[in-house]
Amino acid sequence: MAPKAVPTSEHIVSTVCPLDCPDACTLDVTVQEGKVTVLDGSTANPVTGGYICAKVRRFPERMYGPDRVLHPAVRKGPKGSGWFERVSWDAALDRITERLRAVKDEFGGEAILPYSYGGSNGLLTQDTSDATLFRRLGASRLARTVCAAATGAANQALYGKMPSVVYQDFPEARLIILWGVNPSASGIHLIPYLREAQKRGAKLVVVDPRTTPLAKLADLHLTVKPGTDLPVALSIHRYLFEHGHADQAFLAAHTRNADRLRERASKWTFDCAAAEAGVAAADLERLAEWYAATSPAVVKCGWGQERNRNGGCSSMAILALPAVAGKFGVRGGGYTMSNTPAFGIERTWIREQEPATRLVNMNQLGRALTEYNDPPVKALFVYNSNAAVTSPHQTKVLQGLEREDLFTVVFDSTLTDTARYADVLLPSTTFLEGYDLVRAYGPIGLQLGKPVVEPVGESRPNADVFGELVQRLELGADGDPSGELEEMLDVLAQLPEPAGTQVRDFGTATPPWEGRPIQFVDVFPRTPDQKVDLCPEALEAAAPAGLYGYQPDPATAEFPLTLISPASERSITSTLAELPRPEVKLLMHPGDAAARGLADGDAVRVFNALGEVRCNLQVGTWIRPGIVSLPKGLWRKHTANGLTATALAPDTLTDLGGGACFNDARVQVGAAPTLQ
Ligand code: SF4
Repeated sequence: MAPKAVPTSEHIVSTVCPLDCPDACTLDVTVQEGKVTVLDGSTANPVTGGYICAKVRRFPERMYGPDRVLHPAVRKGPKGSGWFERVSWDAALDRITERLRAVKDEFGGEAILPYSYGGSNGLLTQDTSDATLFRRLGASRLARTVCAAATGAANQALYGKMPSVVYQDFPEARLIILWGVNPSASGIHLIPYLREAQKRGAKLVVVDPRTTPLAKLADLHLTVKPGTDLPVALSIHRYLFEHGHADQAFLAAHTRNADRLRERASKWTFDCAAAEAGVAAADLERLAEWYAATSPAVVKCGWGQERNRNGGCSSMAILALPAVAGKFGVRGGGYTMSNTPAFGIERTWIREQEPATRLVNMNQLGRALTEYNDPPVKALFVYNSNAAVTSPHQTKVLQGLEREDLFTVVFDSTLTDTARYADVLLPSTTFLEGYDLVRAYGPIGLQLGKPVVEPVGESRPNADVFGELVQRLELGADGDPSGELEEMLDVLAQLPEPAGTQVRDFGTATPPWEGRPIQFVDVFPRTPDQKVDLCPEALEAAAPAGLYGYQPDPATAEFPLTLISPASERSITSTLAELPRPEVKLLMHPGDAAARGLADGDAVRVFNALGEVRCNLQVGTWIRPGIVSLPKGLWRKHTANGLTATALAPDTLTDLGGGACFNDARVQVGAAPTLQ
């Protein structure tokens, strides 16, 4: 690839943050002598408003830190040791080509498993030449379900992923329900709009088992037990239907199967739901009354409530609330989920039809690596992901990664816990060293990200490397783009208009509906008949307990506590978590600690039948009794025994969408030997 011309004096370059966060901030990046020194928010996008999160401010530490992968390397030491020998790009790609070819010849293409997620969430760094490569190889397909699978299935089934209420319209609402979402950690640019809404008199309701910063400011905080959001939402539906607050005119005109939803909700009295959720029935009634009586009212449905066995049906019930109560049709009224589909972009640039090869759910990577035989997974290609710490049933994942007969390639900018298991390690550029196309999913936005500095070390962009592998494996076809720039031009050329022309000309697309659609005025369900199907037949059979069927808590006498692992202010899943941080602690309610003879600062073991994590304890009332918490995205170095919360998470799947059930981890906590 030809080097890009970058001036050496200090200057500021504008770009966009593509990391897996709803906000997609516009950035001003200060570059000095060819190195990034400062990242800050720009005002190019008014929602960014000139500030960014503390996580991404630290990005230069990642770019130039000790864990940066600077050149291709091959394994020297035992798997997991992180001991590598530097090789040339040619040698590394030769070895990959030779091994992928050999695996395909001996075991078939399905013995190759690509594994990736939103390490960089742009349109260019995934599902471009990588997809071409793996489809033409006939590799196993990956169901990318670690996040947003259950909510995505619910939103698709009900509304066809209709664009939703954007941050800028929250001040118009008079009632805001934050359900399973903590914008103080993820999506911080919503907070000024929430404050403005409260200033104008809006009530704020937070549904979260933790006392988050916004929960402290809420008019009502429902500390529901994880996994019980479904009965809570259904009890509100029951109230709406039985007390004359269901909007019958809206239901008749815009929905189907309201009667079925009413019937499913009928058994969930406030008392029943409250008993299941561990909250006061009077609080549920208060929320239902407020919701029935207030307009505009918006429900922001997050991702916390989906990470359990009932995640799909919970999300369905929450997202169905505005349809039953008739909350659409006004600015600031309706629901908020991901706005990624707002531009109507389809990945038409992938140059190969998806083959009907084996589909591997990414939440069951451990099983795939240790149990699959038809054929076994013999080659694993990891990029944009850190599966060793993000995938459920961590011990099984690590057991798989340790297999001597598994050929593992990791293509990453950072020596992650997964990269330590690589047979061949390839250095990738970060988003500040390459192009990307970035969609916001809180606000509505589509922007071009561009390189602000030369690639660090010998790193190369995804599109370049996957494109070269296509050629080396003799899988090329006429018209394939050659390298990142051509790939980007190809993607740009296939964006829907006018967005494509706008991004080509100005680097950013003007959001449709001036970026502020009103649901059922400007936008309608993208279902075939534009109606909301409140009880879709197709999902009825898919949900293990039927649609809106509740699966009880999996706690046992042996493992009575629920372990949650929510997003934190320190990392975007595991990205940036490698940077120095205060000691990681298990959070526990004082009552639970006292019952176990534990005190603040004690060394503890948190364990279940799947594994054990050792760390110190922090005791406080910001978490409800019966729940303990470790941060999401920890690296192995953060705990005393090298295992993280995913070691305790089952690899079972959500009722809809095949999502991860991290919050179904049931554990016990006891004293452990003092940490060194
Ligand atoms: S992670 Fe989110 S808040 Fe932070 S810079 Fe990126 S888009 Fe902005």
